[in-house]
Amino acid sequence: MQVHKYDVVIIGAGGAGMRAAIEAGQRARTAVLTKLYPTRSHTGAAQGGMCAALANVEEDNWEWHTFDTVKGGDYLVDQDAAEVMAKEAIDAVLDLEKMGLPFNRTPEGKIDQRRFGGHTRDHGKAPVRRACYAADRTGHMILQTLYQNCVKHNVEFYNEFYALDLLMVDEEATREDGTTYTQKRVAGVVSYELATGEIHIFQAKSVVFATGGAGKVYKTTSNAHTLTGDGMAIAYRAGLPLEDMEFVQFHPTGLAGLGILLSEAARGEGGILRNSEGERFMERYAPTIKDLAPRDIVARSMAEEVRQGRGCGPNKDYVLLDLTHLEPAHIDAKLPDITEFARTYLGVEPYTEPVPVFPTCHYFMGGIPTNIKGEVLQDNDTVVPGLYAAGEVACVSVHGSNRLGTNSLLDINVFGRRAGIYSAEYAKDADFVELPENGENFIVSEIENLRDASGNEKIADLRARLQEVMDADMQVFRTEESIRRALEEIESLRERYKNVAVQDKGKRFNLDLLEGLELGYLLDIAEAMTLAALGRKESRGGHYREDYPDRDDENFMKHTMIYRDENAEMEGVKGIRFDTKPVIMTRYEPMERKY
Ligand SMILES: Cc1cc2nc3c(=O)[nH]c(=O)nc-3n(C[C@H](O)[C@H](O)[C@H](O)COP(=O)(O)OP(=O)(O)OC[C@H]3O[C@@H](n4cnc5c(N)ncnc54)[C@H](O)[C@@H]3O)c2cc1C
Repeated sequence: MQVHKYDVVIIGAGGAGMRAAIEAGQRARTAVLTKLYPTRSHTGAAQGGMCAALANVEEDNWEWHTFDTVKGGDYLVDQDAAEVMAKEAIDAVLDLEKMGLPFNRTPEGKIDQRRFGGHTRDHGKAPVRRACYAADRTGHMILQTLYQNCVKHNVEFYNEFYALDLLMVDEEATREDGTTYTQKRVAGVVSYELATGEIHIFQAKSVVFATGGAGKVYKTTSNAHTLTGDGMAIAYRAGLPLEDMEFVQFHPTGLAGLGILLSEAARGEGGILRNSEGERFMERYAPTIKDLAPRDIVARSMAEEVRQGRGCGPNKDYVLLDLTHLEPAHIDAKLPDITEFARTYLGVEPYTEPVPVFPTCHYFMGGIPTNIKGEVLQDNDTVVPGLYAAGEVACVSVHGSNRLGTNSLLDINVFGRRAGIYSAEYAKDADFVELPENGENFIVSEIENLRDASGNEKIADLRARLQEVMDADMQVFRTEESIRRALEEIESLRERYKNVAVQDKGKRFNLDLLEGLELGYLLDIAEAMTLAALGRKESRGGHYREDYPDRDDENFMKHTMIYRDENAEMEGVKGIRFDTKPVIMTRYEPMERKY
């Protein structure tokens, strides 16, 4: 076993991790651990854009952007965080431009901007052009730009190193009012090297989680295979809470039956959704901004059209995205990749034929709770010194119960930068915490158990079953009954998981073993999601309960917090504690959410 020592260790080399690394790397000795080669991270799959109220093509300002973010998130957004994000958005885009990102330009040479769902002029009056973009490859450009700048700043990467456990110690601490409590503090990270099967311990003053989302709990998803919620599950197992896990975003336009994403930019550039009668049905659901309503509303409207029998195709189970009225030259210039996806995967020619689409699991609004410095909370009031999180793994919460398109590429840049700065500043004054003795034992024995197991359950079977049940029962529409059905199946899969065996018993590049560990994370995440969904007996943003169809601000204008706790029980599941946390409001009172 090798031990390494760094001031700051960042887990994850997507947009959030690398934006953090650029800052931390200039201030402190920094290492980045990543299970993927950095430029393979999911940020590189992002298509449509990154928003900022630059006002390059029409009037705009950061206050309108803040309002849209709060309303888009159905008022569950922490408004202090949304203000920070909308204000810092402008510099975040300009920083990327200075680092070399080739944005699309207006004829006079400014960064061009386009429309995206939920982004409006003057508090909802009409769609506004706020999304900066590089064709439909914005994430690819961001990831390459950040990587090159990490190389420039000599950031040290440990590629294909999986973080598997977080090492923390308990300390006695005193609150401002003089009372004492047990505080967790970061000591380091336990990691597994894919090439050799060796365990490495990284001792660190600060650790930043930037491990991305968990879309692979679903079968139909726009997410990459690697998005298995590792960071969320590692923090959760270490006793930290997960916030707002019931809120999953379904992106309206996944390729039907496949889930591969067609960016909202398609509608931003003028694309229209139609049902089997050829009707532009969004006019009924969101009369003002129609196809550019926030994603939760569009996804639900599509599912409703299918339920009412107005779906298309032999099984009437999808709707159509119509781009046929756009000039082919315009499509080629602005949407080259996604139209190619339609040709390759569905054999449809978007110039002349509408494309079959249906909602696909896309984004986790919830995650590891942090404040606006990226510091991770151990409960509602206290932080874990030295521990930070940013990007999709985190919940600051700028997206509330529904994220607006292009706000995530923004979030990873704004809060990635902040986490990088604050983690390095903390490391300047802090001492290393002594590593807990045999801190690696827990994970080493878990690996050995999995490798030596002779059980008869297959990882792929259990994962497929989990994904099926989540697709069926934790969808756009939910009820007490469907959520309970999912939870029961998850509990039974957790039992079966104890009996799982990996086929590959070797040490080198043992992906079979790592998929086994990832399945464990997915099961933990799915359990937390269903429990949070049972706890929220209202409908808000991405969480629509048919048995509680209204938003209930009186009882549920608050975040949900799920903890692992031996002494507690929730909904018949032992070892789980449910709590809530107030929403931070600054200037926007909750209003009816009409578009
Ligand atoms: C197809 C698609 C299109 C999108 N388009 C847009 C868009 O146009 N605009 C927008 O705003 N948002 C978009 N999004 C959302 C946005 O891209 C993501 O939310 C965001 O990029 C996440 O960035 P991240 O840095 O948090 O995580 P990621 O980019 O997913 O990176 C996660 C990193 O963590 C590492 N990692 C994970 N687990 C471990 C572990 N156990 N040990 C070590 N390393 C680990 C991985 O190697 C990876 O480097 C899109 C998402 C998808 C899927």
